[in-house]
Amino acid sequence: MSIIDFIRDRARFYNCPVCGRSLKGCEVQVLSHEDERFHLQVTCAQCQVTFVVVLAIQGGAVEEVESAVEALAPPVAAVEPISVDEILDLHLFLKGFQGTLTELIHQPDHSRG
Ligand SMILES: [Zn+2]
Repeated sequence: MSIIDFIRDRARFYNCPVCGRSLKGCEVQVLSHEDERFHLQVTCAQCQVTFVVVLAIQGGAVEEVESAVEALAPPVAAVEPISVDEILDLHLFLKGFQGTLTELIHQPDHSRG
């Protein structure tokens, strides 16, 4: 199972941050990845909204991904619909960010717009 297949499979457990429905069947693309950090573009199959998710993977194995994903709080806080400008901002933010996705989504001023 590839990382994309894995993420797509897990996505059904999560809800779209915009329409609130399951992300089952969503499109997942890897925008980039460096070492253990994946920048993913997810498109909701229901409302077609696109948002970016960053996964920080410990150890680089799919099994490790699974535990990392399952350990997360509801991912809605990390997956906000964002504009192109905001994506650029996000990339800049992430470039300077040192930590895991769990830490990222706990950034208090990053969870709401
Ligand atoms: Zn949606």
